Amino acid sequence: MKMFRTLLIVFICLPLLGAAQTRCASADYQQQQVRMQPALSARLASLDNWIQQAVASPSLERTQEGTLVIPVVFHNLYHLPAEKITDQQVQAQLKTLNECFRMRNPDTSNTRPVFKSLAADCEIEFRLAISDPARRATSGIIHRYTPVTSWKMGDDMKFSGKMGADGWDSKGYLNIWVCRMEKFAGFSSVLGDDPKLDGIVLDQGALGEGHKTLVHEVGHWLGLKHLWGDAYCGDDGVSDTPKQASYTMGCPNTVRITCGNNPTGDMYNNYMDFTSDACMTLFSEGQKSRMRSLLKTGGLRASLLQSVGLKTPLIAELPVADLDPTWLEPKLYPTAVTHSLQIDLSYDRRWVGQSYRIIDLQGRVRQQGNFQSAIHRFSAEGLEKGYYLLEARRTDGLVYQSKFLKL
Ligand SMILES: [Zn+2]
Repeated sequence: MKMFRTLLIVFICLPLLGAAQTRCASADYQQQQVRMQPALSARLASLDNWIQQAVASPSLERTQEGTLVIPVVFHNLYHLPAEKITDQQVQAQLKTLNECFRMRNPDTSNTRPVFKSLAADCEIEFRLAISDPARRATSGIIHRYTPVTSWKMGDDMKFSGKMGADGWDSKGYLNIWVCRMEKFAGFSSVLGDDPKLDGIVLDQGALGEGHKTLVHEVGHWLGLKHLWGDAYCGDDGVSDTPKQASYTMGCPNTVRITCGNNPTGDMYNNYMDFTSDACMTLFSEGQKSRMRSLLKTGGLRASLLQSVGLKTPLIAELPVADLDPTWLEPKLYPTAVTHSLQIDLSYDRRWVGQSYRIIDLQGRVRQQGNFQSAIHRFSAEGLEKGYYLLEARRTDGLVYQSKFLKL
């Protein structure tokens, strides 16, 4: 009967989870990546093998002393001005991330007593990069406007050619893309996948102090699996986390026995479950070993500890904010016109509502108005033959000018 009830709970929860925002899409994302490149499956298995051996090796702790520090860069893709994240939000998120990894989070006291002795200070910290890959000064927070209003699970946000932002060399930085996700709070790249895809994607609603989606995703990024191993009573490859049937929602206040894990029950306070932020309070010692193994000599992520990201920049002045890519620019056509012409603002809607002027070669304003919509039409009927300039100014000061010929 107990088994039947557990199954029932799992199946009742699934549709609910589908309807709301999913806490973590890493498992779905991994399935998708493996489907697209079957060789990834074998790479993953061999990496897992490597981790298991490294964790079992007695040299693990000896070769790693003290706190390991990982340089981080945030790529913020914003469409609306409100989606531009602030330095304070990023700092607050990093504070929570570091507190959780160092077991300095005040709510660590909420860990169920039976698991308290397993809770670990992972001795891993995360800091905003101060040098970019070319060793120019950086704030570690890159903002970029995008015409994309929301993103689907996938990798488009990781490429400027797809209206996203290119990641920095993943051997030296943890890339975190913060953007408006359609259904997911976040997901991590797959260990051993293409380095250009490496990093974490975070919904901007899941960013800030006390938010633990990033803690969970960094767990994945450092080789951790969900407690249930993404299968019914599956294996997460960690010896001190009890087997559990599936994910846990909300925050239970009782012992939950599944998969015969009595007397302790599920470790639902673990960051690698799906419980609410306030309920997640620990990584276990076993998880700590697994994560740190990737940072030891020969490990997949060892190069992060040699990164230039936290070294003093060689070029001190902060680079000016990245220019928008040229495909964002308004497109005026035709450039030789008899009756009417139009301007396409659909890639950069910041122009919609702005005023424009059409000026002749003598500098006289011949027409003016406001761009009414993403495709705005002008009449050229009243203009004499000759060259004209269309000029507009955006609220941030950027000026657009384009020439056309009245035939
Ligand atoms: Zn996850």
